[in-house]
Amino acid sequence: MPKTELQYLADELQKLRDEKLYQNLRILETEQLPLARFDGQEVINLSSNNYLGLTTHPKLRKRALEATEKWGVGSGSVRTIAGTMSIHMALEEKIARFKHAEASVVFQSGFTANAGTVSALLGREDVIISDELNHASIIDGCRLSRAEIRRFPHKDVEACEKILGEIAGRKCHKLLITDGVFSMDGDIAPLPQLVELAEKYGCIMMIDDAHASGVLGRNGRGTVDHFHLHGRVDIQVGTLSKAIGALGGYVCSTRDAIDFLCHRARPFLFSTSHPPAVAATCLAAFEVLEDEPQLIERLWANTRFLKDELKKLGFNTGMSETPITPIIVGDAALAHEFSRQLFAAGVFAQSIGFPTVPQGKARIRTIVTATHTQEELTRALGTLAEVGKKLRIIE
Ligand SMILES: *Cc1c(COP(=O)(O)O)cnc(C)c1O
Repeated sequence: MPKTELQYLADELQKLRDEKLYQNLRILETEQLPLARFDGQEVINLSSNNYLGLTTHPKLRKRALEATEKWGVGSGSVRTIAGTMSIHMALEEKIARFKHAEASVVFQSGFTANAGTVSALLGREDVIISDELNHASIIDGCRLSRAEIRRFPHKDVEACEKILGEIAGRKCHKLLITDGVFSMDGDIAPLPQLVELAEKYGCIMMIDDAHASGVLGRNGRGTVDHFHLHGRVDIQVGTLSKAIGALGGYVCSTRDAIDFLCHRARPFLFSTSHPPAVAATCLAAFEVLEDEPQLIERLWANTRFLKDELKKLGFNTGMSETPITPIIVGDAALAHEFSRQLFAAGVFAQSIGFPTVPQGKARIRTIVTATHTQEELTRALGTLAEVGKKLRIIE
């Protein structure tokens, strides 16, 4: 007898195929580089978050190998039992100094940093005020906290204040939370205004700087540094998985807040800590941020070039202000077709549709890195223009 309990999954998948929304995973067969081979094809890679090219940086690679030689491949335990190694502590101290924070704690990923932190800090009687485009890991953290969730329209400071006014009389903890750089649109949060609201209405202010870590601010210190708001944002989350080039997430805050997370954040308590090689790699990456500022300069030079040229070609790049530049086409099937034809022509820019972005806002997303050459970007632009015209996305 065939099992029937899982038949609904096959039905759902068939629906995705019928709507041309089914996507196969692209398989990377080389290192994560600007020119890479996916699925047997050499492409100009505009889809990685490897902003500074650190995934293959010689110093990081060397440190990872040395750490593996010295300490082995795994930590063998969760942090709160036997899995806190000296290299984990060294990384947390490094990050806290780098971010001018009292203390920091590292999680297995940016996702677990957000979800673990929000769900630990807030409870059933509390309120979370959240930008509608905040990352899924924030949304999951909010849900797990069981707090009341009040979403404000994207970057709408007035609407945010209206909500804060409505709940001003509530005696509870209030968390105002936003992404620093929004991952699908590449725009930057109105952090100075949000910080003022948080101060005026007595909210904890938290920022998720996944796409700003290593990208914005001096030496990539993030959105708080970019806007000169040191000391006014209570909790900063960053990722070690994007510009930093390895894997992980971190939270910077007061010593007490970090100590509390070490006692209450569930991914910290119930999931094994990083292998030593990951911690060593991340430590080296922060040294690179401080020693090689030219990487970030190149990232921004490439960003300006690609963005300007895409606009000249007539593409709708939305509100982007960072190396994430979407090309918004609206219809999800069209976005997928655009991406597919670009890939066949040698450019990898992933298409993104509902539910990752709202219905009718489907797009391909381009991300440049510091390591793309001018020649590669020019070639990619030629291909984007050609395929864009063929599909009547531009004239
Ligand atoms: C990628 C991302 C995360 C998750 O980071 P990982 O380290 O990949 O788990 C969290 N927040 C935002 C805004 C992101 O873009």
